Amino acid sequence: MRIVDLIEKKKRGEEFSTAEIDFIVKGALDQTIQDYQLSALFMAIYFKGMTDKETTALTLAMADSGDKIDPLLFTPPAVDKHSSGGVGDSTTLVIAPVVASLGIPVAKLSGRGLGFTGGTIDKLESIKGLNTELSMDKFIRQVNKIKLAISSQSLNMCPADKLFYALRDITATVDSIPLIASSIMSKKIAGGASCLVLDVKCGEGAFMKDLESATKLSELMVKIGKLAKRRTSVFITDMSEPLDNFIGNNLELYGGLMVLLGEKNRLYTLSKALGAEMLRLSGVINPEQAFDEAITSGKALLKLKEMIKAEGGSPLVIDNPSLLLNAPFIKDITAKEGGVVSKIIPTEIGLTVCKLGGGRIKKTDVIDEKVGIELKVEVGSKVNSGDVLAKMYYSKIEDELYAENILNSITVSNNAKKAELILKKILA
Ligand code: URA
Repeated sequence: MRIVDLIEKKKRGEEFSTAEIDFIVKGALDQTIQDYQLSALFMAIYFKGMTDKETTALTLAMADSGDKIDPLLFTPPAVDKHSSGGVGDSTTLVIAPVVASLGIPVAKLSGRGLGFTGGTIDKLESIKGLNTELSMDKFIRQVNKIKLAISSQSLNMCPADKLFYALRDITATVDSIPLIASSIMSKKIAGGASCLVLDVKCGEGAFMKDLESATKLSELMVKIGKLAKRRTSVFITDMSEPLDNFIGNNLELYGGLMVLLGEKNRLYTLSKALGAEMLRLSGVINPEQAFDEAITSGKALLKLKEMIKAEGGSPLVIDNPSLLLNAPFIKDITAKEGGVVSKIIPTEIGLTVCKLGGGRIKKTDVIDEKVGIELKVEVGSKVNSGDVLAKMYYSKIEDELYAENILNSITVSNNAKKAELILKKILA
């Protein structure tokens, strides 16, 4: 087999056999296939697509490319969730401790921020001392002991996805449905959870811009889940505006803690929907009620504290979340005119947080966890001229100029059309 022939084959839109897909994944890992050949192949896949059979074969080959956790190692069976990437989305920080506090093991492998989207690992690393790079052995032991572990994907899991993702990120081939589906599902399959709840973001601030493509991606992942014997439910949710009002690493941790302390907002609503589905799949009766009780009883917050301690972090911020709002400078961004907020562009908000130092431009960039944006409005809010629309948290005085970017990301007009938060559900 020659990779050049396979690139040619996909260029013509033909289907790969499982043996050909295995050849590609193996060759990528042992470097007999070069990055530039993979890049050309990804672009051909981007334009010609892949059949469900090919995507499933690719997912399984990627899941088998490194260490894999046997789901039977977790008792009772573990659950996991995944978001396809959004802005102001700290649902994991809420859901994981809620579900674990109810005795259901949560084995969560999380990623770092990517482009304009945030990542759970970066948010958790706002906590002093916390080390999310768990060994496979510690990850499994911790899940079985305290029912909750959130680990970065530094374990030798899905090395093929790491390689492919890094290449896709710099060759404009991230937003290919079969490549996203195989990337997400390979990691989830290798992670050892028996039940999965996936949040596919849809809208301007997501890889899937419309409901049709989000549905295609979701149905494909459910199909792959079924073949891999993982009960998989998908929620397609709105990302036409940031999910929570807090965006940035410390700020998103703060936003998550506010929900665990009883705040009822969009982040709460989505966390409850996804979390209750994880509980339902795990056999919990009255999952929505159980979700709320875990919060009101304080059990979920205690569970988060337990996990932070188990991963070497200081739980100080859990007892005093306002310590997280510690940027050297804070600036109010005010409305130039009155009206109704009709648009808050999530990509612009996410990118501005990156520019303030809250995200990476290059892989090696060090994150400034203190910076971010606190929105004081959401789509549909009525405002008067001079009202505070947002607060910018920043570390360098010269970054004051980014206040203009935030102002330009928020449109105030005469009327607003608010999107539904949950657009569609495909339940296992
Ligand atoms: N999230 C992933 O893990 N992979 C993708 O390809 C896109 C979003």
